Amino acid sequence: MDMKFVQTTCPYCGTGCSFNLVVKDGKVVDTAPYHRSPVNEGKLCPKGTYAHEFVNREDRLTVPLIKKDGKFEEATWDEAYKLIADKFKGYKPDEIACLSSARTSNEENYALMKLARGAFKTRHIDHCARLCHASTVAGLAASFGSGAMTNSIGDIAESKCVFILGSNTFEQHPLIGRRVMQAKMNGAKIIYADPRYTCTGKQADLYMQFRSGSDVAILNAMMQEIIRNGWEDKEFIASRVKGFEELKAEVMQEKYSLENVSKISGIPAEQLKQASEWFANAESACILYSMGITQHTVGVDNVKSVANIQMLTGNLGKAGAGVNALRGQNNVQGACDMGALPVVFTGYQKVIDPVAHKKFEDGWGFPDGICAPANGYEVTTMMDVLTDKPGELKAMYIMGENPLISDPDLTHVEHAFHALEFLVVQDIFLTETAQLADVVLPATCYAEKDGTQTSTERRVQMWRKAQEPPGQSKVDWKIIAEVGAAMGYPDQFAWESAEEIFNEMAGLTPSYHGMNYERLNKPEALHWPCPTEDHPGTPILHIGKFSHPDGMGIMHVCEYKPPAEVPDEEYPYILTTGRCLFHWHTGSMTRRSSTLHHEVPTGWVEINPEDAKELGIKDKEMVRAITRRGEIEIPAMVTEDIMKGVMFMPFHFAECAANRLTNNALDPIAKIPEFKACAMKIEKIQEA
Ligand code: SF4
Repeated sequence: MDMKFVQTTCPYCGTGCSFNLVVKDGKVVDTAPYHRSPVNEGKLCPKGTYAHEFVNREDRLTVPLIKKDGKFEEATWDEAYKLIADKFKGYKPDEIACLSSARTSNEENYALMKLARGAFKTRHIDHCARLCHASTVAGLAASFGSGAMTNSIGDIAESKCVFILGSNTFEQHPLIGRRVMQAKMNGAKIIYADPRYTCTGKQADLYMQFRSGSDVAILNAMMQEIIRNGWEDKEFIASRVKGFEELKAEVMQEKYSLENVSKISGIPAEQLKQASEWFANAESACILYSMGITQHTVGVDNVKSVANIQMLTGNLGKAGAGVNALRGQNNVQGACDMGALPVVFTGYQKVIDPVAHKKFEDGWGFPDGICAPANGYEVTTMMDVLTDKPGELKAMYIMGENPLISDPDLTHVEHAFHALEFLVVQDIFLTETAQLADVVLPATCYAEKDGTQTSTERRVQMWRKAQEPPGQSKVDWKIIAEVGAAMGYPDQFAWESAEEIFNEMAGLTPSYHGMNYERLNKPEALHWPCPTEDHPGTPILHIGKFSHPDGMGIMHVCEYKPPAEVPDEEYPYILTTGRCLFHWHTGSMTRRSSTLHHEVPTGWVEINPEDAKELGIKDKEMVRAITRRGEIEIPAMVTEDIMKGVMFMPFHFAECAANRLTNNALDPIAKIPEFKACAMKIEKIQEA
């Protein structure tokens, strides 16, 4: 028997835990702890523990598929490439859109970004960061000049006050939750604000239950209380921040008094007062947030408000402090860094900047140039254009994304996909989206390739190949390179390894300039920015100065605005959505992992006992949930843990898809949808 351990990085959440894959006779059969990782020190959550279970599933895609007369037929790679190239060469650049993937490596995101902008010459490329942290990228860039988590995961344990807002950290990022518990054991106060009394809330010193969508009002009220008591960090404000007087004029208004915000949010005034006092007077205080903050029509304002309170209290550029935006997917930070966004190349170099455009045009050497120096469509805009402007977008290339489960208002998304003339999906399973494709390309998972991914704390870590890909499937970058060659650009995609792609990318990307595989091939890896080969990386951002050209942070005035859709007589409840401990995103991998599936086989809707009583609904009973966009049948979970008037659903489950109900109203800047609040009614299903 041949057995070996191969160290790699977890393919699920953005924490970036490391573990060993156990390989027996050439096949991945288990995971085992890797104790030298400074991120998780050998510990794993259930998803990481069972991250081997989907790898050798019998339903992995192993051969290219081409749809003929509505049915998939097996094809050769050459047939698939020829069809793709013939079709894509027939479309104008602006008729093509690409979706890259937060599940795949940095190298593969870079490769797809180059294929889109260089070979297809389209400006329309995006990925699911649009659906989770687009508001973070926009909001923090506006406040600090850089749109990423400011401190490191280990640093959270140093904090004296941890304020968690809109993040069920203990379920979504359990190994970050471990650092919160370490902070608590070191004497820190833990404040938690969320509509649900989650397992995170149960560990908090102060739990504030609030109505989804009132974040700006809550933060403005806390800032008013801090300023009224003179708890703001006057020296930090004077030396490092612009916009304080304007912010003060906004937050000191009567509408943000503790009493008024108590009415808006549902949080008792004394709790808001206590939270303000603990937070402002801690020696160091950090904020952890996630999609409870970002997935709103005011997502960017929510993020700017988080940045405001941290600048007000001087909690930036030091240990135990910071704005810690917890990214959902394993490589969503990396996919953004790699320029899989419609407005930037790698390292957030703007596509409309003529200098950046020329740098990439010259660096890539496409004889007929690259895409126009103009911003492209966000994925949410792509869906609207497909339904509202027939014929403008005609073809789409998707790597490792499943919009038919992940995007808001699925009926709208289905209409959009049916309006496409030609769809290519590159994935490891025949997902709901792949089933609609004209061509399906079998790709590889994290266990079958080398590469890097960038975790939520900007740490760039390695994947290492542990087994051969199944059947004829190929690594994603190789597929992209061969499509690029079929499009007529073999020289531009003539890579022999993931390392070669990384080096090409790092050469064009200042924040990755100093990185290479040799430096990354260590347990601690490197945090960007790492501009030179002797630079140690940057675990804490904004020490001494912010990333704006003048080094100053900018406070932004944010006015409280309610969600786009609020409860009314017909739809009297607020629906909010999210994830659960045992599943990840659209469930394409976790629902194929037998242990995880056994733990949580399907979805549910959480209903407060008072609401359930009024509706005559019992625990575990099937109910019908209805919004203006659609309806689903789903089991009820009657629980005190959700506040009256608010209901929660996880979004992983196709058979009771929460996104059949959600609202695709968008934040005007980040174009992120309002997954976290829409109006819903719920009915008992009457027996026939
Ligand atoms: Fe994987 Fe996240 Fe769990 Fe760590 S916390 S094992 S990265 S899913």
